[in-house]
Amino acid sequence: MDYRSHFLVDPAKPLRLSEIDPNDTGEHDKRSKAEKETEEYRLQMEANQFLLYADGRQSLLVVLQALDAAGKDGVIRHVFKAMNPQGTRVHGFKQPTPQEAAHDFLWRAHHYVPADGEVVIFNRSHYEDVLVVRVHELVPKEVWSQRYDMINDFERLLTQNGTKILKFFLHISPEEQLERFKDRLDDPQRHWKISESDYSERTYWSQYTEAYQDALMKTSTPYAPWYVIPANRKWFRNLAISQIIANTLKDMGLELPPTRVDIDDIKLKYHAAVQAANGNNGENGDKREKDKDGNGKNGKNGGKG
Ligand code: AMP
Ligand code: MG
Repeated sequence: MDYRSHFLVDPAKPLRLSEIDPNDTGEHDKRSKAEKETEEYRLQMEANQFLLYADGRQSLLVVLQALDAAGKDGVIRHVFKAMNPQGTRVHGFKQPTPQEAAHDFLWRAHHYVPADGEVVIFNRSHYEDVLVVRVHELVPKEVWSQRYDMINDFERLLTQNGTKILKFFLHISPEEQLERFKDRLDDPQRHWKISESDYSERTYWSQYTEAYQDALMKTSTPYAPWYVIPANRKWFRNLAISQIIANTLKDMGLELPPTRVDIDDIKLKYHAAVQAANGNNGENGDKREKDKDGNGKNGKNGGKG
């Protein structure tokens, strides 16, 4: 099953998250089989990231959005371990700093977008400015309601500059979220992850759902599509996302760049270097031999001293 078409948000159709089952596992019913497939996609991602980096003409931006405990960190840990750290960055979007807040809302996002050849993951993103900001009325409606068009323009600009954009909404149920909060409470190793806001934000579930539905419909474009990933099952979430990324990279037409040097000429240089090295080694070898049996030292240094 091609999850790129299956989970794509079609902007022409009304999106109702309540009609998408967070327990869905597509055509995969076995975790072990899914994990094996995920590993294959990870290998493909690794090979293609190498090409993306070498090619240096395009880049990839992955946006992860979700409510608390839906698995953004887990996706980064499990899916993106395929990527070579050389050429990959993650940026987490927190409450804007005073400096960020003093600029337009896209300013900080623009700063962190991938350079040519890079993969960048946004852990939360510029979408917070039409999500948390809307739900908590941090700016008036006249302000946030204009941001969808601005986001589309911004993402078109990035696309036309060679950045492929993929956006994932990790869809969990409120029951699953509560389960995960319990897991965190039961595990002292994860207490550091707990915040009071997890519980207060949870009471805004329906407002967030509405804000997400709007954002996803208004900004799922052919050049920067949104995918709603059923995420109650972590193994399925990892599989679907890695499949979509692997297939997207495959379609980017990545290739090794043309050789920048005359290989025949470089071969001559190489042989000359080998010859020089052998010559030197021979000399050094002689010297070392002499040093070993005392002749070199006595002959040369002795004379100096
Ligand atoms: P976390 O992802 O758990 O590290 O939390 C980051 C927090 O920063 C979340 O509660 C986000 O909603 C919040 N945040 C991110 N961007 C913004 C923004 N533009 N305005 C207000 N809060 C934000
Ligand atoms: Mg949090």
